[in-house]
Amino acid sequence: MRKLGLSLLVFLGVVACKTNPFTGQRTLNFYGNQQIFPMAFAQYDQFLSENNVITGTTEAQMITNVGQRIATAAERWLDANGFPGYLNDYKWEYNLVKDETVNAWCMPGGKIVFYTGILPICQGEAGIAVVMGHEVAHALADHGAQRMSAGTLQQIGAVAGNVAIQDPQKRNMFNQAYGIGSQLGIMLPFSRSHETEADKIGLQIMAIAGYNPDEAAELWKRMKANSGGQAPPEFMSTHPSNDTRINNLTAWAPEAKQEAAKFGVTSFK
Ligand SMILES: [Zn+2]
Repeated sequence: MRKLGLSLLVFLGVVACKTNPFTGQRTLNFYGNQQIFPMAFAQYDQFLSENNVITGTTEAQMITNVGQRIATAAERWLDANGFPGYLNDYKWEYNLVKDETVNAWCMPGGKIVFYTGILPICQGEAGIAVVMGHEVAHALADHGAQRMSAGTLQQIGAVAGNVAIQDPQKRNMFNQAYGIGSQLGIMLPFSRSHETEADKIGLQIMAIAGYNPDEAAELWKRMKANSGGQAPPEFMSTHPSNDTRINNLTAWAPEAKQEAAKFGVTSFK
């Protein structure tokens, strides 16, 4: 029984790796876009129907504008680096939700929510771009799907050789992996390495989109000052400390500007 479970894990490990375009590393991922995205889109619509979506304001418009610029930048980067069509299944959507929680997230397939509570810390377009770049980077790098795959492994371990993963369980795992709806408290955390990766990718995308990457460290200084040592939920996970993050982002900003220059972007707002 144990042996069966183990060989199943090895088998899944062999078939389920996917190359991350941003790092070139192969990562564990059992779920293709076809499995993940429809679930994500349905959950996103449900979330929007149950929350107070703000439309027609300057702020809501700004979220959309920044999101579109970030998405375009991501597409340019992927095309230039040998991944044309990577975003074909994505259905980008950017929504501002009235909620004082200091948070933002991007579900698989490009479904983004900003809470109004994070706007005072963003302080404007460039700050929004920092958060947007980070969240979009999680989605582009399939961090959620990897997190869900890790959950699958745990579950396979628990049922030892039971190959069939029933849909309700999968759904439950999905909700946990992405921290949807009222279950935010039980969201499986992104790993520290995923956070660092999202920071780095996000910085490059925001620069290509024409936003000053120096703003990233500034945003995290404000986040640190605001939180009194407590980061908001998405950013809390198993985190690089605020100081490590600020130091990293400061060190990487010149590199991000060089990357942007390859795309003809040399001035930033
Ligand atoms: Zn994150």
